[in-house]
Amino acid sequence: ELANRMAERVADVVKALMKMGMMVTQNQSIDADTAEVIVEEFGHRIVRVSDSDVEDVIDTVDDKPDDLKPRPAVITVMGHVDHGKTSLLDAIRNTKVTSGEAGGITQHIGAYQVTTDGGQVLTFLDTPGHAAFTSMRARGAQVTDIVILVVAADDSVMPQTVEAINHAKAAGVPMIVAINKCDKPDANPDKVRTELLQYEVIVEGLSGDVQDVEVSAISGQGLDSLLESVALQAEILELKANPDRPAQGAVIEAQLDVGRGPVATVLVQKGTLRQGDIFVVGEQWGKVRAMENDRGERVKEAGPSVPVEVLGLNGTPEAGDVLNVVETEAQAREIAEYREQAAKDKRAAAGAGTSLEQLLAQAKANENVKELPILMKADVQGSAEAIVQAMEKIGNEEVRVRVLHSGVGAITETDVGLAEASGAPIIGFNVRANAPARNSANQKGVEIRYYSVIYDLVDDVKKAASGLLEAEV
Ligand code: GDP
Repeated sequence: ELANRMAERVADVVKALMKMGMMVTQNQSIDADTAEVIVEEFGHRIVRVSDSDVEDVIDTVDDKPDDLKPRPAVITVMGHVDHGKTSLLDAIRNTKVTSGEAGGITQHIGAYQVTTDGGQVLTFLDTPGHAAFTSMRARGAQVTDIVILVVAADDSVMPQTVEAINHAKAAGVPMIVAINKCDKPDANPDKVRTELLQYEVIVEGLSGDVQDVEVSAISGQGLDSLLESVALQAEILELKANPDRPAQGAVIEAQLDVGRGPVATVLVQKGTLRQGDIFVVGEQWGKVRAMENDRGERVKEAGPSVPVEVLGLNGTPEAGDVLNVVETEAQAREIAEYREQAAKDKRAAAGAGTSLEQLLAQAKANENVKELPILMKADVQGSAEAIVQAMEKIGNEEVRVRVLHSGVGAITETDVGLAEASGAPIIGFNVRANAPARNSANQKGVEIRYYSVIYDLVDDVKKAASGLLEAEV
């Protein structure tokens, strides 16, 4: 690659490297400093790729108002566990998606489109829950236009309902409340409406501006009204995108398929993605070999708000990674490699880990570290509050413990993501991490510590904090 860029012979470059004492083959990667020496030796000018170069290649089109065409709304369903998110998504899909010829079995690609009775197309993300929503947002992909907040009428507002409301508000995405399970004898929709007031979600019936619909995912009651409400909200938003430009999209999900290689479900956001397009997506790149729509049909192109499964990647990207079509394979590869290296450098600089010991080591190396960030999950609200208070009392003007997030319930992947991003360990008080969270923590080097006695916990954190203090002097 380097020889190619310099228009020199590969053998000459390898020879030059060997002269420097590096026994390399032509496909081996060399570090940037060595590459610089070689480039100088051959008498060429050195141009290091930077972040802005990467951006320049990618964002070349300024959409003019005239270029913008209406596009379908993208909807995410959120709400408390067991309130019926999955059932609702299935019910909408089953009633509205015209089943394909192959026995009517729709293929699962992480998103699907429906057409309302009014003829409006809507795109539903098939990954309910706010973990997906936040992890996508954290990676810079804001894909959701409308949130359907599912609240079970027999259970009313629960902790994850509140979390979902906060996520939607933080993202500035309008909400529609689906009061689910209205077929149940003990359903009490009015209780839901009243309780939502507490969280500043005021439904239309209570003279607010949030639409609410009574539904049942089981009986199918209210589903059409729900879709009409969504369509109305979408009209108000006047969603538009330019279909005539190189595509940009977001990865909804991706996996390594044994037969087909890396496969990603991409939601196109701008432009039109076509078979044969060369693209970069996160730290991966590729060329669209084939695309399938949400019904498992081969398609040659996909415009704004259309979800497609893309084949032809060189590796598996992550949910939330942004896909950009670029002109040449060399550009795509260069950007992907640049990002991979940048991510590696960042991890190395961050000390690759969040354990208390590593934080201390870091503190010794860096006199500016005066905060001990931690994430805390507890079994009940009472203990959570008590622990946060105790934590905040630890330390003095020089060092303090900062509780980034505290919550009730098992330690989840979302917690691990937040801990990794903030370089904080996670403390579990009478709660454990679930299996996905444990795997993710292992992978990312996030430390999880379990406690069941507040005294032990406070003692350990005190020790860590005083370790920080010692590092100061
Ligand atoms: P999720 O965790 O929010 O995705 O909830 P699920 O869709 O898995 O639903 C949880 C449980 O509630 C399942 O046993 C569903 O069958 C049931 N359920 C979901 N919607 C309804 C509904 O409208 N009426 C009744 N009676 N049960 C429902």
